[in-house]
Amino acid sequence: MPEKKIKLQPATRDKKCQVCGAPYVYPEQNSNATRFHCEVCAQLPPAHRKILGRMAKRIDSLERKLKS
Ligand SMILES: [Zn+2]
Repeated sequence: MPEKKIKLQPATRDKKCQVCGAPYVYPEQNSNATRFHCEVCAQLPPAHRKILGRMAKRIDSLERKLKS
């Protein structure tokens, strides 16, 4: 029986945006998404992205605390 392998492009991966937590695929054609940010957040000014990323991390850690 021939084995059917789904071949993913080596560099293509499912990512989670570090700012808004949205799932996205990177790299994708015609997408402005970066390695760490989805297409929407990649367009934010770097200073905003930095602050929002910090807040997202804080929310993450607070959520973890609530769950444990
Ligand atoms: Zn995002």
